[in-house]
Amino acid sequence: MGGNLYANPADCNCAPPCRAVIGERRLRPVSSPRVSPELIDELRAIVGAAAVVADEASTRVYECDGFTLARSAPDVVVLPGSRDEMVAVVRKVAASGLCFVPRGAGTGLSGGCLPLDAPVMIGTSRMRAIRSVDFENRRVVAEAGVVNLHVTRAAAAHGLFYAPDPSSQSACTIGGNVAENSGGPHTLKYGVTTNHVLGLELVLPDGEVVELGGEVDDVPGYDLRGLAIGAEGTFGIVTAATLRLVRTPQAVRTLLGMFRDVDDACRAVSAIIAAGILPAALELMDRMIVEAVEAAYGFGFPPDAGAVLIVELDGLEVGLGEQVDAVRAICQTARASEVRVARDEAERAALWKSRKRAFGAVGRLAPNYCTQDGVVPRGSVPEILRRIAAAAERYRLRIANVFHAGDGNIHPIMLFDERDADEVSRVLAAGKEILEACVELGGSVTGEHGIGVEKIEQMPLLFSPVDLRVMSELRLVFDAQRRCNPGKIFPTPGACVETVKVGMPRRQVPL
Ligand SMILES: Cc1cc2nc3c(=O)[nH]c(=O)nc-3n(C[C@H](O)[C@H](O)[C@H](O)COP(=O)(O)OP(=O)(O)OC[C@H]3O[C@@H](n4cnc5c(N)ncnc54)[C@H](O)[C@@H]3O)c2cc1C
Repeated sequence: MGGNLYANPADCNCAPPCRAVIGERRLRPVSSPRVSPELIDELRAIVGAAAVVADEASTRVYECDGFTLARSAPDVVVLPGSRDEMVAVVRKVAASGLCFVPRGAGTGLSGGCLPLDAPVMIGTSRMRAIRSVDFENRRVVAEAGVVNLHVTRAAAAHGLFYAPDPSSQSACTIGGNVAENSGGPHTLKYGVTTNHVLGLELVLPDGEVVELGGEVDDVPGYDLRGLAIGAEGTFGIVTAATLRLVRTPQAVRTLLGMFRDVDDACRAVSAIIAAGILPAALELMDRMIVEAVEAAYGFGFPPDAGAVLIVELDGLEVGLGEQVDAVRAICQTARASEVRVARDEAERAALWKSRKRAFGAVGRLAPNYCTQDGVVPRGSVPEILRRIAAAAERYRLRIANVFHAGDGNIHPIMLFDERDADEVSRVLAAGKEILEACVELGGSVTGEHGIGVEKIEQMPLLFSPVDLRVMSELRLVFDAQRRCNPGKIFPTPGACVETVKVGMPRRQVPL
């Protein structure tokens, strides 16, 4: 069964009805078998009673990730503490014929770890060991449940860091990052997760352990490591990853450009890149975000700023001052009302805290919000922002924008109240329209948050039925029975394909 999203569950005419639901309303009928009490006992015997969550009130904690529009609690959550326990758990679940869903920290924003016809959730939160560090060769082997930021903490004393830095880096896990091929503010210069993972240890859905990639850059044969990164947990469960560490730059300068509006800020972004400068980060916040962040953290943004551009430059001390001057001049030419340079590390840290916690600050503006994720060619950022503003007006929504401007990776944040079904419908419709606009402008429906359940409907905008079938069949190499994270990325064969949203006709994609 696919992971259809409905504002009104009555719209679902699958038999039995789809499991994911919107807002307060929940559908419980499931087509897959439920977890038996015997299986729960067997899982407890493997990982210990405290690492199995089976009562309904507690499993509710796991009913969604950061995409709170879709919810579905698993029957049981199992938390293995080691690779061997993971293998034993996966084998036990395989023997029962049940489907399962991997989960890291649950910070995903596309419903990737939503259990859809997967009554067993297998979490990695107890697999937090850094197995080995090799500073000479600049690599570290981290278990899947290690929090992203903890890798850098382990390496910082040696002048090294782990470059992919999602804004959720103080919570999200390496396993989740691998599954989503996560990016972050500094991926403009340093690249995304796949550029920093040398090898993977993967437990296949039948319990077999395979090693993909290796400890060095090039390994012969197909790049199965690359294939598994971004597979959104549909190939099996990653238990560990060999990560590349990067030398901490000798010097860093962080500039803040205040602009009257986002158009001027976008002009500065394009001009910086056109000048041959490659900043480590180019992040843009619009007026609504600046106001929210200022109210929450009091960084000191001017109250009348229509847009704030963060430009981080790093590298050798020599020559960095010239780049700072060049960026300052570019911002001024683009009519920045003010350009500041962070005075010291404390000010820089405060600035990044404000940026990285922008989503949290938005929580003050409305009971709920939904973060969209799309990409457009950098030059089309002003146009997509105009279309977002038009969608906000048409659908009577408040939409704030904070995004990785250097990558053309937009993150419109749609504010709503989940108790208002009509508003939920408008959020879904506006989100769909924004993603369609991204594709129309030559971009894509996700920059870094993945497809999950949220964007299954949009896959046919980018891929032909043949493309989808080929990708779906490729998955069978790893998961022949589609038991690991079913209902994600692709419509499930023979099932209703996730195209019913408010007022939209049902459509089938043949697979
Ligand atoms: C405030 C906030 C800011 C964010 N900023 C960014 C950002 O800047 N850049 C960015 O890319 N993302 C960002 N995200 C999204 C999210 O943090 C990332 O997608 C992250 O990688 C998810 O990690 P997780 O451990 O929470 O995974 P989860 O949400 O638990 O799972 C995500 C997916 O990975 C699969 N999965 C998890 N662990 C494993 C495993 N061990 N093996 C196989 N599959 C697994 C799950 O099944 C699911 O499909 C942000 C989210 C929030 C809430």
